[in-house]
Amino acid sequence: MRVLIAGAGIAGLAAARGLLAAGHTVTVLERAPAPRDSGCALTLWSNGTAVLDDLGVRLDGAGQRLDALDVRSARGRPVMTVDTARLEAGSGFPVVVIPRRTLLARLAEGLPAGTVRFGARLTRLHDDGRSVRAGTEDGAEHSGDLLIGADGVNSQVRAALFGSGPGTDAPPTGTATWQGLVAAPFELGSRGLMFLGRRGAVGMSPAGGGLLQWLIDLRLRPGDGFDRPDRALAALRDRYGTWAPPVTGLLASLSDEDLELFPHRRHRAPFRWWRGRCALIGDAVHTMPPMLAQGAGQALEDVAALLRALAAADRTPGSGPASGPDPAAALRVYGRSRRRQAALASAAAARGIATSGPRTVFQSETVLRAASAMPGHLATWSFGRLIRAFSGRL
Ligand SMILES: Cc1cc2nc3c(=O)[nH]c(=O)nc-3n(C[C@H](O)[C@H](O)[C@H](O)COP(=O)(O)OP(=O)(O)OC[C@H]3O[C@@H](n4cnc5c(N)ncnc54)[C@H](O)[C@@H]3O)c2cc1C
Repeated sequence: MRVLIAGAGIAGLAAARGLLAAGHTVTVLERAPAPRDSGCALTLWSNGTAVLDDLGVRLDGAGQRLDALDVRSARGRPVMTVDTARLEAGSGFPVVVIPRRTLLARLAEGLPAGTVRFGARLTRLHDDGRSVRAGTEDGAEHSGDLLIGADGVNSQVRAALFGSGPGTDAPPTGTATWQGLVAAPFELGSRGLMFLGRRGAVGMSPAGGGLLQWLIDLRLRPGDGFDRPDRALAALRDRYGTWAPPVTGLLASLSDEDLELFPHRRHRAPFRWWRGRCALIGDAVHTMPPMLAQGAGQALEDVAALLRALAAADRTPGSGPASGPDPAAALRVYGRSRRRQAALASAAAARGIATSGPRTVFQSETVLRAASAMPGHLATWSFGRLIRAFSGRL
């Protein structure tokens, strides 16, 4: 089949690799003029790294493998440790923190020249039931048997298929992350740290190459200064500067240029995954807050599910990479296989960390002290169960 993909992010490049390996012809249309070389780091749990492994993406020497994630209260009291080395031993796949640009470069490695067309923003598409045509801003027209919308949270493909507005767009949740990828001001080894308090969460992880990824999840309220780049660092130091070390040290080491703000958005289930010869993957269909670090993992799960559905359709009599499977049947199977898990990941992410309201009680010192009585292996076991519940791969 000839497959068009809109978007050369994590989902689009992963899909391109898998489809090429399955014998399809692939063109990726990317609006940016060149490969992305900026951005922070991502945590990929074992479900995401399993799919990368299936796609032949090598992660050696990239980012940092995590042995553990230590959760502490705002005052520094140990609450629980998620033993990620144990999760790796159980699943066969590591938990990794990796700069986005490094992951994108690894995903793009080995793609035939010309597969990704940069400076090609998709602006219109037409599906006549036999093929799909996609027009780009530069006036070019591309045609394929199948089109995959991997064009992120403000997906043009989604808007073309289902319109835009309530029920289709991903509205803001009122929460946000301030984050940065900086030269590590201190050594964390292969352990991540997450501090929980009634006013949100502060996390930090080694990201390989002497880099440290830090983040602060909080509620955005107009006028409190947290949404203003010129006020943010002072406001963050004010609010979180009394938290336990190394939060204090981290905030002291930052400068204004180290900060980026990402307001959270979230699609509400039920998601609409496909129509005719077009399918959506990744943030285009299920943007979720980053609290559980599953957005990219779920995008990779989509890719794995889509490849499985197309391969199964290929095996039906009278079809194959040349003649093509029945896309509608394959896309229906794809959407059905992903809907429940993505909805679960999204709901869990939305509840992962409280940034305001009564749920913040669960992040109070008293409740966190009680939580620290939980047997050590239970946190790891629960997290492992959760990741498997989000996954069709593990
Ligand atoms: C603060 C923050 C922290 C996060 N941390 C994590 C984490 O630790 N772990 C994790 O798993 N996930 C994390 N996520 C989520 C993760 O970043 C996303 O889920 C993931 O990037 C989705 O990938 P995607 O390919 O679907 O979309 P994107 O990464 O948004 O890629 C979309 C691509 O499409 C292109 N595009 C857009 N419109 C068009 C068009 N009209 N035509 C052509 N191209 C177009 C864009 O330029 C872009 O290259 C985080 C998100 C945020 C906001």
